[in-house]
This record gives sequence, C-alpha cells and structure tokens, in this order.
Amino acid sequence: MLTSINPYTGEKIEKFKVHTKSDISKKIKKADKTFQDWRHVSFERKKELMLKLADELRNNKKDYATAITKEMGKPITQAIAEIEKCAWVCEYYAENAKNQLEKEIIETDAKESYVRYDPLGVILAVMPWNYPFWQVFRFIAPALMAGNVGLLKHASNVMRCAENIEQAILNAGFPEGCFQNLIIGSKKVEQIIRDKRVKAVTLTGSKPAGSSVASIAGEEIKKSVLELGGSNALVVFEDANITETVKTCVQARFQNTGQSCIAGKRLIVQESIYEEFLEEFITQVRELKSGDPMDEETYIGVLAREDLAIDLEEQLEKSKKQGAKVVLGGKRNKTYFEPTIVINVNKKMTIFKEETFGPLMAVTRFNSDMEAIDLVNRSAFGLGVSIFTEDYERAKALIPQFEDGAVFVNELVKSDPRLPFGGTKESGYGRELSSHGIKEFLNRKTVYIN
Ligand code: NDP
Repeated sequence: MLTSINPYTGEKIEKFKVHTKSDISKKIKKADKTFQDWRHVSFERKKELMLKLADELRNNKKDYATAITKEMGKPITQAIAEIEKCAWVCEYYAENAKNQLEKEIIETDAKESYVRYDPLGVILAVMPWNYPFWQVFRFIAPALMAGNVGLLKHASNVMRCAENIEQAILNAGFPEGCFQNLIIGSKKVEQIIRDKRVKAVTLTGSKPAGSSVASIAGEEIKKSVLELGGSNALVVFEDANITETVKTCVQARFQNTGQSCIAGKRLIVQESIYEEFLEEFITQVRELKSGDPMDEETYIGVLAREDLAIDLEEQLEKSKKQGAKVVLGGKRNKTYFEPTIVINVNKKMTIFKEETFGPLMAVTRFNSDMEAIDLVNRSAFGLGVSIFTEDYERAKALIPQFEDGAVFVNELVKSDPRLPFGGTKESGYGRELSSHGIKEFLNRKTVYIN
C-alpha cells in the first residue's frame, strides 16, 4: 500500500493498492497498443482533446488544487495557480505543436530532402511531489501532441494527484492507454525502463534518483531527460532597484514554501548595498504569513514530509557550526519550518554547496563582478541564475560567463511553456517545454529522395 499523509495535520488521508508486476505489464501492453493508433491521429483532433483538457482543469481547479494541498501542503492559492499553469501548457501545445513539428526541408543534391519528427512510443515519466500537477503536465502535453503515450510513476506521497491527472485526461476524451498512472514505489522503475516496449524515460527529482534511472536507461541504450535539483543564485548588483529586487527575491525563495528546483537559494549581494538590502529583505520575509495551507491567506505552508524538514534542519545546523549566522527564523516544528535567513555564508558551507529544499535563504556578499561570477559558477548545480542590475550592457556582458541553463535579468527564474527549461552540470540534461522540449522524445528522421 502507498499511503498519503496530510503533512499539515498528520492525518492519513488515503491508501492505494500497489500495482503488481503483472498489472504493470498489462498497462505497458495497453500503452503500446494505444500508441499504434494514437500516432496516426491528426493534429486537429489532438488539439481538440488538449483544449478540452485545459477546460477540464480550469472548470475543476479548486478540486484538483485541494488534492495538491492535502497531499503535500502547498498553500491553496498557489495550488490553484499551479492548475491554471497546467491549463496554459495544454493550450500552448494545442496551438503550437503542429508548426513545431512541421517537416524541416534541407536543400541537398537530392530531389527532396528533409527532417521529419516521428513519435517514439511509450515514454515513462518519473515525477516528484513538489509541483505534483505541473511536473506531469509539462511532460504529458507535448508528449501527447507529438504522438507519444505516457506512463507515470509519481512520487509515493502524491498518489491522489496522480490518479486525478489520469482521470482528468480521460474526462477530456483521450483514449484509454494514452496516459496511465502506475501505483508503484521506486524499486519497480527498473523493470519498466528495461521493458522493450518502453522507449525513453524522463525524471524530475534528486541526483540519486536521476543517476539510477539514467544508468539503467544507458544500459538499455534508451534516451533519458533529467531535470534534477538546483541551487540558483540571485545576484544583486549595487545599481539594482532595491525595492523591486527585494520583492522578487522573496518570491523566488519562499513561494511553494521553498520547495522548488528553480528557487533562488543563494542570495549574493554587492557589499556597498548589503546592509540596506538585507534590512529590507528581512522586513519583507518577516511579513510572510505562515499557517493552514487550506487558508487562502497563507503564503508559507509546511514541507511535504517530515524527513525533508529534518534534512533541512541538519543542513542548517552544520552551516551554523561552520560559522553561518541565523538572523531570522531557523526553527522547525514537525513539518513546519520557519522562514529563515542565514548570513555570513561562504562557499565552503553546507547550505551554499548543497540544495536546500525549504524556506531558507543563504546570504553571501561580493565585491567585484568576477567574484560574483565565481560564486554563481562554484555550485555543482546549473539550473539558472537571476541577476539584478539597471545596467543592461553590464548584464549582457555577464550572461555568457554563467554556466547555468538559464539567465534571467531583473526576474526570478521561472518556467514558461514558450521557453526551454533545463539545466547543466548536476542539474541534469535535456530540455522541457517550448519547441525544444517537444522534440526530446522524437525520431528526427532524415529523409533523402532521389
Ligand atoms: P526523489 O528524487 O527521491 O523523488 C523523485 C521521484 O523519483 C519520485 O517519484 C521517487 O519515487 C522517484 N525515485 C526516487 N529514487 C528512485 C530510484 N532510485 N529509481 C527510480 N525512481 C526513484 O526526491 P525526494 O522526494 O526524496 O526529495 C529529496 C530531495 O530531492 C529534495 O530535498 C530535493 O533536494 C530534491 N528534489 C528535487 C526536485 C526537483 O524539482 N528537481 C523535486 C523533488 C525533490 P518515490 O517517491 O516512490 O521514492
């Protein structure tokens, strides 16, 4: 059985009977069979279904959002926003997939030569609990529009969300077998990746999970896309607009109670404005309202599981011993972790080197542009970086020097269906979203006609 526990109340909400080996095999068979028809369905029909799916999500957003909040503790207004974003990604691919996958004509000596994009078949998605709908939709919307079908192995603590996603897709009218949820723990993932009918795998989650999945996929010579952790820096230069930047940095770190791969986890501030900036930052973080995630006024909920809150506490304690100083928060009560600001953080400390998955900001100072670049790039991760400056020429000169998968200027790093999303280094490889994401799991078929 997999059990969902409300992390705010501690109450056991629901139990799910785990799929057996034979259940899994039947589901893979069904997915493969569905693919043989689905791959020939017209873009017009797929668009119609995808738009219905967007309507299904919007029309029932409160219900879907409630499942998120109950299972992983996300404040309800943020859960509703997550559902709306899922509807957006469905609409985006409904409108754009056909053009994105148009054959690409390349002039050669042939009468005709071009690249066409053909689907691969059954794709396995291993997904995390932090955005239990969004992480799945940003995979499944492009996958279905491209003619692939999906199997989901969701995080064990958000099975109600996973079941609801399958139902939403059926409610929209997609054929059974286009998308199926597997009620399984992570040990059963290997069997699925090794199955001949499963053609590729995408994983969003931690490095150990990504590394395990990618090595099995590698042994089987199957494509994988990994979207792993991050420790994004927010770099504030002395010429930044302080009021606007503080607001953006607070949101970058504390939305979703800090449990986001692209959250700004390391605040790196130029020495000359450090004191002024820090004072304003502390003031604004102090005003964030913690409470019952079901309350619409709540901005800071709880962490999704107690072990995750304990991990964060341990990272903080280690860093304190290394010389870091807590200026706000720092205490934990079961799954609740106070919004926390830690200063005097240097590049040797745990909360600088490791990903911190919760409402904790590590603050470091810098003097020169070179020092700022070094602090950003020193991370083992490379998902994204935000820089704050009014000098656009300075910003443009800095952009090529960062090793990350994204650079945002005067904005928090955020995912947008129109833009590619993904990292470098230990943050993974491959891209999701936009025209780049939809092409990850396709056969780019070269055609030469003489
Ligand atoms: P995991 O990486 O363990 O879980 C993510 C998904 O991978 C879940 O579906 C999980 O299944 C599955 N999984 C875990 N291990 C394996 C494996 N060996 N083979 C196949 N699938 C596997 O994340 P946690 O929930 O344990 O969180 C730990 C840390 O990971 C966080 O503190 C954070 O640093 C990072 N993380 C990053 C995320 C991101 O958005 N990049 C999202 C979530 C976590 P199951 O739940 O059954 O174990």
